Amino acid sequence: MRIGCPTETKAQEFRVGMTPNAAREAIGHGHEVLIQTGAGDGAGFTDADYETAGATLVDGAEEIFARADMVVKVKEPQAAERKMLREGQILFTYLHLAPDPEQTRDLMASGATCIAYETVTDARGGLPLLAPMSEVAGRLAPQMGAWTLQKANGGRGVLLGGVPGVLPAEVVVIGGGVVGTHAARIAAGMGAEVTVLDRSLPRLRQIDETFGGRLRTRYASAGNTAEEVAKADMVIGAVLIPGAAAPKLVTRDQLSRMKRGAAIVDVAIDQGGCFETSKPTTHDDPIYEVDGIMHYCVANMPGAVARTSTLALGNATMPFLIALADKGWETACREDPHLAQGLNVHAGTLTYIPVGEALGIDA
Ligand code: NAD
Repeated sequence: MRIGCPTETKAQEFRVGMTPNAAREAIGHGHEVLIQTGAGDGAGFTDADYETAGATLVDGAEEIFARADMVVKVKEPQAAERKMLREGQILFTYLHLAPDPEQTRDLMASGATCIAYETVTDARGGLPLLAPMSEVAGRLAPQMGAWTLQKANGGRGVLLGGVPGVLPAEVVVIGGGVVGTHAARIAAGMGAEVTVLDRSLPRLRQIDETFGGRLRTRYASAGNTAEEVAKADMVIGAVLIPGAAAPKLVTRDQLSRMKRGAAIVDVAIDQGGCFETSKPTTHDDPIYEVDGIMHYCVANMPGAVARTSTLALGNATMPFLIALADKGWETACREDPHLAQGLNVHAGTLTYIPVGEALGIDA
């Protein structure tokens, strides 16, 4: 199969769909790999790295889309890219179609077979191609929160780990899933006093067993959440209700009971955010203040560490990419029901029921 990987065109997207190692692996399986010149620059992979791996460099996305049997990307295809997709071609990337009727219609019109990273499942009911980005965002959250807490950034001027004789900062993590667990691990590692709140007792038990006495867990009733938020130097929002907007767990009124200059890092902002006062921000202008509380609400946090994110995503996509290339999408999806869950659009038809329900299109 001929696999093509174009440069990402969405604003502020520095990741790339295939690492040189992924190209090497695919070529080892007998496939041809076309990489757009400069596609890996943002993630620190040079054209020479891809050439050494055996890939062919191609100028311009047009040739990639025209020649590839399968196009591998990171972000959903932008309008100009969607025009270049064609019948029978496989597109393997994040799509997030539910809130995006325009993209959905264009993909259906293209006749291509579109497999979305975010709906591929695993045997434990997880989302293996979404989890690496939650791991990245979770581990990044205390780092960005620590920066936000610095005086020059409007924060309280508190050092997360304290120093001998000075108490460490108190960090509260709301939601103890993938993001929350990784955030708690790093915050505790930086020496903060960490409390994780969740509505799932099995989840809290698991965290308690994993971390022992290094952090505290507390059931996320509204009362407990309000109490913890009021004491915190940093609050990390990491809740998810699958398929729904994030619940607003901290109201504007509660900000007045928080410590002045405390930091909110709302990782759940891509689902609308779990603080009433959250609004999406960008890496260029990541923080803002409401009622004396600093907010960091970047919707694509993994983009800040494009190299780590590309490597993490590449590790997770590689086996699926190779299966699609070796077997073709039909056999690969028939043999692996978890990969089949990723099929969102095929030959003009929407094939993923939840997207159909969200958009009112037959699936
Ligand atoms: P997850 O499903 O692994 O974890 C979510 C947790 O929230 C679960 O443990 C669940 O029990 C808990 N929860 C649900 N409702 C709750 C409530 N009312 N109170 C307390 N806990 C509650 O999800 P995840 O992968 O950790 O993702 C968390 C959020 O981070 C999602 O919204 C995801 O889209 C987002 N995310 C954002 C970025 C970014 O760049 N901003 C990157 C990755 C993920």
